[in-house]
Amino acid sequence: MRMERSVRMKYLLLLLLTYIAVSNALPAHPEKDNKEDTKLVEDYLSNFYASETDSNQSGWKTKADFTAEKLQKMQRFFGLKVTGKPDTETLEMMKKPRCGVPDVGLYGVTLPGWKKNNLTYRTVNYTPDMSKEDVDKAIQKAFKVWSTVTPLIFTRIQEGIADIMIAFGRKAHGHCPRYFDGPLGVLAHAFPPGSGFGGDVHFDEDEDWTTGSDGFNLFLVAAHEVGHALGLSHSNDQRALMFPNYAYTSPSEFPLSPDDISGIQSIYGSATKTPGKRPSIPTSPNACGPQISFDAVTTLRREIIFLKGRHLWRVYPDNSEVELELISAFWPSLPSGIQAAYENMKDQILFFKGNNFWIVSGYKVLLGYPKNINTLGFPKGVKKIDAAVCNKNTGKTDFFIGDKYWRYDENTQSMEKGYPRRTVNDFPGISQRIDAVFQHKGLFYFFHGSRQLKFDPTAKKVISEIKSNIWFNC
Ligand SMILES: [Zn+2]
Ligand SMILES: [Zn+2]
Repeated sequence: MRMERSVRMKYLLLLLLTYIAVSNALPAHPEKDNKEDTKLVEDYLSNFYASETDSNQSGWKTKADFTAEKLQKMQRFFGLKVTGKPDTETLEMMKKPRCGVPDVGLYGVTLPGWKKNNLTYRTVNYTPDMSKEDVDKAIQKAFKVWSTVTPLIFTRIQEGIADIMIAFGRKAHGHCPRYFDGPLGVLAHAFPPGSGFGGDVHFDEDEDWTTGSDGFNLFLVAAHEVGHALGLSHSNDQRALMFPNYAYTSPSEFPLSPDDISGIQSIYGSATKTPGKRPSIPTSPNACGPQISFDAVTTLRREIIFLKGRHLWRVYPDNSEVELELISAFWPSLPSGIQAAYENMKDQILFFKGNNFWIVSGYKVLLGYPKNINTLGFPKGVKKIDAAVCNKNTGKTDFFIGDKYWRYDENTQSMEKGYPRRTVNDFPGISQRIDAVFQHKGLFYFFHGSRQLKFDPTAKKVISEIKSNIWFNC
C-alpha cells in the first residue's frame, strides 16, 4: 500500500535548499570507495529522503541517528533489508537511474490535484537525441496513458503558458530551482499541480533519450513524470509506473499498474465518456445473489479469479478473502464480457472473447495480442470458447465449446489429434453447456448458471453439486 502520495511545496522548497547534485562516478580506486559511498548516501538521502525534522537538528539526535533513520526509511520503501546501514544492497539501489522527485512527503495530506479536467501542455524545446516527431509522439502517448483511466483531457498548445510546460535541460536549467546531475542518476523531475513551476516536467538532457530500449525511453519517463504533474507521488510498488527507479517495459504495453490507476482515480475519478459530468458509479454485481452465474473463472497462483461483465472477484481460498475489482483496473486493454479464461503452466492467464484471445503475464498484456484462436489450432468454424482449464498435472488444456471439447498440449503448443470429442463421454455427468471451469487442488469445478459440479478428473466422476458462489463468504 502506498503510504502517501503528496509532495508539499513547502517541503519541496526545504529540499531545494539542501540540494546537492548526486555524484554518479564509479569509484576508480578502492581507497576512495568509502568516501564516495558516504557522499552517495548523503546526497541520496538529502535528495529523496529529507524530512521536516532536518531543520531541527539541534535536539538530542546526532547526525548519524538521522542518517540511520533515513536509511531505514529508504530501505523499507525499496523492500530491502532494514539495517539502517549503507550495505551493498542499499548502495546498489542508490546507484540506479531514477526520478528526481523525493520518495517521502508528509503523511496524511490529501492531494488536491488540478481543480479542472481540461489541461494544456506545451513542449518548450526538444532533445537532439530524437526526431521532433518522435518526441511529440512520446509525450502525446504519455498523456494518453493517464487520460484513458481518468476524465482528464489534455490539449497541446504551441505558445504561451500551459498548465504543464515540458522542457529538456542540463545541470542548472532555466530558472528551475532544481539541478540535474549529468548522465545517469536523476533522469527527470516534475512539480506537483499548481501555478508557476507547478505541473512542469523537465528531462535531463545529459541522458540519452530514445524511442526504444537502449538509453532511456522518453515515453516511459514522460508517463512517470506526468503522473507527478497530475499530483501522484512515488509508489513503493515495484510494478507501478510511479516506482521511482527507471525500468524498461515495452512501450506498446500499457504501463499503468492497479496501484497507479487507483492512485490517479482517487484524485480525478475514473474515465467517463461524457466529459464534464461526474463519472457514474457502475452498479457492482452481487456474488451472493441466488442467481449469480459467472462468465469465466481461472486460477492465478493461489488466487481464483471469477469474471462477470466488467468486473472480477479475486478470491483467496486459503484465507477466504474476496476483492471486487474492475477488469480494466488490472488489464485496461482487455474487453468486458470475457467468455473463457485459464492459467497456463507459465503463470500466465489466457482470456477469450469471441475468436480473440489475450495472454497476460502479471499486470501486462503480452505484445501482439489479441490474436485469433485459429493460431491455437482451432478451425475457422469455431467462433467462441465457453470455458477452458489447464490440468496442471498433465499439462493439457481442455477447451469446452457447446457439448464438445478440444484438448491442447501446453508443452508442444499444439492441438491434440482426434478432437473435438463429446464432453459427456470423457467427463461423465457434464452433459450441459458450461459457463466456466477451473482446477483447484487437482479437482475440476464446472459452472452452469448458479450451480457448480465438483469433478475428479482422475476418477472421472462428479463428486458433488454445489452452489456457484460457494467460494464467496456469503
Ligand atoms: Zn518520480
Ligand atoms: Zn527542472
